[in-house]
Amino acid sequence: MGEWSYGRLRIQMNKAFDIGVESLSRNGGAETAGLDSRFSRPSGETIPSDKFDATDTAAAKSFGDTGNGGTFFLETFGCQMNDHDSEKVAGLLLSRGYRQVETPEAARMILYNTCSIREKAAQKVFSRLGEYRERGTDKIIGVLGCVAQQEGHDIFKRAPWVSLVCGSASYRKLPEMLAELEAGNKRVTGLDNDTDETFETEITRRDNPWRAYLTIIEGCDKACAYCVVPHTRGPERSRGSESILREVRQLAELGYSEVQLLGQTVNSYVDPTAPRMKFSDLLLEVAQVAGIRRVRFTTSHPRDFGADIVEAIDREPKLCDHIHLPVQSGSTKVLRAMARTYTREEYLEKIALIRGAKRPISITTDIIVGFPGETDEDFAETLSMLDEAQYDGVFGFKYSPRPNTPSLALNDPIPEDIKGQRLVMIQEKQRVIQTARNLAMLGQELDVFVSNKSRRQNQWSGHMTSNRVISFSSQEQELLGSYVRVKATDSGTGSLTGVHVG
Ligand code: SF4
Repeated sequence: MGEWSYGRLRIQMNKAFDIGVESLSRNGGAETAGLDSRFSRPSGETIPSDKFDATDTAAAKSFGDTGNGGTFFLETFGCQMNDHDSEKVAGLLLSRGYRQVETPEAARMILYNTCSIREKAAQKVFSRLGEYRERGTDKIIGVLGCVAQQEGHDIFKRAPWVSLVCGSASYRKLPEMLAELEAGNKRVTGLDNDTDETFETEITRRDNPWRAYLTIIEGCDKACAYCVVPHTRGPERSRGSESILREVRQLAELGYSEVQLLGQTVNSYVDPTAPRMKFSDLLLEVAQVAGIRRVRFTTSHPRDFGADIVEAIDREPKLCDHIHLPVQSGSTKVLRAMARTYTREEYLEKIALIRGAKRPISITTDIIVGFPGETDEDFAETLSMLDEAQYDGVFGFKYSPRPNTPSLALNDPIPEDIKGQRLVMIQEKQRVIQTARNLAMLGQELDVFVSNKSRRQNQWSGHMTSNRVISFSSQEQELLGSYVRVKATDSGTGSLTGVHVG
């Protein structure tokens, strides 16, 4: 689901926001945009440091000759923010004369852009690094992203063959860090997250030829009790509206027809420049750019979600009819413990705003089960939230304590089997809701952006403006990248199928 089959270098795109019940079972993190976790291969191993010493390994010898013309392999874990950061990192490397290759074996420099929102996600990175423990390496290995920020210099202790550790808030300093590596420096770090700067580059190597991601706000000031993002990505920093619009215009000229504005809390955007544009005004301005046909945004924080956003969607058809609004729990008591800054009732008021729009807007959410102190009664309130909100997709996660988060002090008192049972109950209820919602779409003609061609003859798939995926049949020879009308003819729990009608 959601994996682009063209031109990707082991980077998955768009996975968190494809609506499908199968995604409910992923044991991920908190808010999907930043916290989607895709990993299932735990290792937990600590890598012994006795075999490696950056001062005398072959890796150390190669530091000085990896400059212009070197090759890099970049693997990305986690969310769309990370995907897009990787696009920018790749662009920056390409602009310095590096060449991107498809396998670690072919590369002089191997970079892992990491996610630490779930324990398993962080373990995955050390598992990757552990692959070099026995056989050694003459390559430069770098750890970027949230695990880099989380673990800092400890990464050098666990995996001494690593030579670059850089958190996302320090990406703007990557050119200097690369210069240090090229000059032969063996241990380079960028771990500063006390910044008001955003990461902008002249060149971004985009992996999707039609949907372009743009980060408009980085970091987070919300301090939810379970979340590592404020620690790993630093404080909220918004990008100037004119800079955003300039990039959107460039993207349109390059042929991109769809843009997705990204932020951990995208609707908390505060224009730092003179127009002082509100988020909803920015959405409308982006939609005005010639050539842009669809504008998406994610992830919205319920506290900052206002009627002006719904009014903007009502006014401007190019603004997609999908809002991802993480609720996390249906219990006000648990929401307070999570420091989510809204009550169940306040959240439901936001849902009512969206449901009151002039056109149907798809709503998806994230839910954490098993947060410390969550009783059966609290969980029952979360289940009833599904009934009331009638979500089009739910990303359910089991709570796991993370370092540097306030909830770490609460320990992890809910047993794993209870968490598992609760997750299954969420999945089952949502499956029923989603089946009914899909059934209601049968017979409708839908606008679909064609993004995939099936191996099966005459079969295609694409996204509706609601971000649902629909598979459909067509006799056309080439549809990739086009907008078509599809009539929905059949539905399952997490899928719709149809036929091309024009
Ligand atoms: S701290 Fe920020 S990024 Fe983390 S869950 Fe809360 S709002 Fe989302």
